[in-house]
Amino acid sequence: MALTKAQQEKFRQILNEKRKNLIDQAQRTLESDMVLSPDDRFDEVDQASSEYMQAFSFRLRGRERFLMDKIDLALRKLDEGIYGICEECEEPISIKRLQARPEAPLCIQCKEAQEREEAVYAED
Ligand SMILES: [Zn+2]
Repeated sequence: MALTKAQQEKFRQILNEKRKNLIDQAQRTLESDMVLSPDDRFDEVDQASSEYMQAFSFRLRGRERFLMDKIDLALRKLDEGIYGICEECEEPISIKRLQARPEAPLCIQCKEAQEREEAVYAED
């Protein structure tokens, strides 16, 4: 079952809030650690979409970076009207799962199958 417009807008709000929190977090890291590595900077500059994000995105590391990418992807899917559809099996992701993890790209069945294969990112 597709999400209603109202549900989609609710998830957009939640995702934007999560995104903002991640950026705030990165900003605090930036402020407490002003020593920049020039190599680091040039590696990732191409991927950033704006100057504002360039300042922060290369400070995001590991799990935060991973989460940010998923939030951006989920927001893009909202724009395209395909949010809440599993990337693997193309079935709707349950609303309960989206409420727990609005950035989740996979339904719970596909996620569990993936975890059995990889066991790397245990949490999505
Ligand atoms: Zn699936």
